[in-house]
Amino acid sequence: MEEHQFATKAIKTTQRAFENINPVTAPIYLSTTFKRNPDGSYNDGFVYTRADNPNRRILEQSLAELEGGADAFAFSSGMAAVSALFQSLSPTDHILLPDDIYFNIYLLVDEVFSRWGLTYTLVDMTDLNALKAAFRPNTRLVWLETPSNPQLKITDIAEVATIAHDQGALIVVDNTWPTPVLQRPFDLGADIVMHSTTKYFGGHSDVLGGCIILRQESAYTDRVAKVQVFSGAVPSPFDCWLISRGIQTMHLRVHAQSNSAAELASFLSQHPRIEKVNYPGLSDHAGYEIARRQMPNGAGGMLSILVKGDGERALQVSNRLNVFTTATSLGGVESLVEHRKSIEGPSSQTPDNLLRISVGLEDIGDLIEDWDQALRL
Ligand SMILES: *Cc1c(COP(=O)(O)O)cnc(C)c1O
Repeated sequence: MEEHQFATKAIKTTQRAFENINPVTAPIYLSTTFKRNPDGSYNDGFVYTRADNPNRRILEQSLAELEGGADAFAFSSGMAAVSALFQSLSPTDHILLPDDIYFNIYLLVDEVFSRWGLTYTLVDMTDLNALKAAFRPNTRLVWLETPSNPQLKITDIAEVATIAHDQGALIVVDNTWPTPVLQRPFDLGADIVMHSTTKYFGGHSDVLGGCIILRQESAYTDRVAKVQVFSGAVPSPFDCWLISRGIQTMHLRVHAQSNSAAELASFLSQHPRIEKVNYPGLSDHAGYEIARRQMPNGAGGMLSILVKGDGERALQVSNRLNVFTTATSLGGVESLVEHRKSIEGPSSQTPDNLLRISVGLEDIGDLIEDWDQALRL
């Protein structure tokens, strides 16, 4: 065989795509580019993977259906999704953010988007009078995160949606923690849902992703679509495949994690070495009644606690845990514990003795026993 023949054969023999076979699970389409038909058309509209890819389309259609929205857009991380939402606003717009918003979103607005003219006000969203007073003529968007991170404050989505709509603003709910399994923002009047799919959707702490889902089509949909494709912060086909795979078991995982979190919260709330447990499923939580209405099937797999003592004592307790891993992030099959103040830095308002807990799928008896032994000393 001539060398030039080898080179051509090496390409041509491995280029084959099977057609009309019926795989039971979706294949991964890594191809960045798709063949054009002689008449100029592209099958199913796939041209180039930044614009669209079969794995991304599968994921986006699934996300839209699960959340009950008209359109979904997938991104390479939760923060890329958040950025796309803000980039779809205009530079002179004003937005309202919860005072305990996911810390990195605050940093993004304060340090990046502020420089482009976007203005913001931090509001305690559980205080509806404070919320009403914070609107300006150019307020375009109200951001909600409920339960919030890391204090697990509960906001009434329906009430905030009514107020926002009266003022001509859109309401966005970061639904990462409850997931559509436990909370349905569109049924409560939200216009947009955002997720870090890195968490419960992926579910195995092995893929980053984010998405925006819009309840109905609007001019805003078009702007988000353009930011997604023109800026290109899109997830890879493999990432989309992993998240789609996670979706198949998400409802089972989330229910199990929520049930275990409720049991652990109840145990810790009675422990003499714990100052406070923040879990909206406990009847003494300030948002308990709203959470029961808004999250009727469970208060979620996340909680935070204040350990009696200072920050050093909290770190000491978390270091003694064996089943729980000390790491950031949440929503995976493994239980994690994190000292939030150290990760958020000196400007954070988070109490120094706060530990945030993401409950995984380990045996609940083992999880409780782990805290029992760590708190004993
Ligand atoms: C993790 C998280 C984000 C950011 O998502 P990334 O995938 O890390 O970019 C945003 N909001 C909430 C509530 C989160 O937990």
